[in-house]
Amino acid sequence: MTLHWLQSARSARSIIGLAAALMIGLASPATAQQASGTALARVLVLGTGGTIAGQANARAGNAYDSGKVSAANLIAAIPGIDRLAQISAEQISSIGSQDMNDKVWFDLVKRIRAAIDNKEVDGVVITHGTDTMEETAFFLQNVLDTDIPVVLVGSMRPSTAIGADGPANLYDAMRVASAPESRGRGVLVVLNDTIHGARWVQKTNTTSVQTFRSPDVGPVGYVDTGSLRFLQPAIPAKAAKLKLPDAPPLPRVDIIYSHANMDAAEVEDAVKRGAKGIVLAGVGDGNSSKSAIDALAAAAKQGVVVVRSTRVGSGYVNRNVEVEDDKLGFAVSLDLNPQKARVLLELLIANGVTEPGAVQQAFAQ
Ligand code: GLU
Repeated sequence: MTLHWLQSARSARSIIGLAAALMIGLASPATAQQASGTALARVLVLGTGGTIAGQANARAGNAYDSGKVSAANLIAAIPGIDRLAQISAEQISSIGSQDMNDKVWFDLVKRIRAAIDNKEVDGVVITHGTDTMEETAFFLQNVLDTDIPVVLVGSMRPSTAIGADGPANLYDAMRVASAPESRGRGVLVVLNDTIHGARWVQKTNTTSVQTFRSPDVGPVGYVDTGSLRFLQPAIPAKAAKLKLPDAPPLPRVDIIYSHANMDAAEVEDAVKRGAKGIVLAGVGDGNSSKSAIDALAAAAKQGVVVVRSTRVGSGYVNRNVEVEDDKLGFAVSLDLNPQKARVLLELLIANGVTEPGAVQQAFAQ
């Protein structure tokens, strides 16, 4: 198989990418290693559950339970996947990703670090529910210090559904995780022939197989049974990664969703519950009612770290436009949505980074 990345500017890349793809043509599905006679890449699959491992249940209609099929059995059901890589599969958890939690995140990091330290693997695939996949991907991106591809994959239809998308997605994820061209790109998400970067990817549709998008920047590449293409060169990984505490939980950070007719109660409740940080899923440019902003300012004065994000779904949150961040002691999430801002803020607080200026700098990296 020949792998390609196309050096096109982001703004022009859909046109250039399409033209280049047509000129290059589709690559053969055999691996580069097979073509050259070298050993297949070693890929560790870590199962966590999700719809990709979902099974129909006895309830009526399309009802199913997440996380019922093991990662090993998902792999075993895909013809030809063993020609892509030397695959080993382990189960970390068997949950729907609505139940994703610090313990599973810490277990994933521990296992991946051990595999890297022992030089066991050339790539990692994590099967995961799509609901919180972007949070797990972004968490791992912030704490793993490795060049090897770490690829999260899921599906929108359970394994027992007509037209289940899990097998093709898992096959594609294996292609990405086993390819040398995927190294140094941070943590990736693969679904529906599309490769996304952990910082930008978001679930955008409740049911469509094309649910993942990267607003403002677009995907980092495309993969299918016949080809793998990255749209830009890998950017060298930054050395500075955040440390994990020895054991979970991470410090409590609450997300407060802003809305019309909002009072201060939700902010005050979060402070009473012991939140060490608050992410505002603000209206528009990360804004909220005067009552809520006043309550956030009071919280910041008491040492709660406040980050303004937005419920809008795309675009940057800017400092000091309608809200006086400098005066009130707030940071803004820039391009990070509230759920990813929450992950980063948990890690920053765990690392002792709480001063608004330092928090702002970390969000800008
Ligand atoms: N509740 C499921 C989960 O996140 C649904 C989403 C999915 O996996 O596609 O695990």
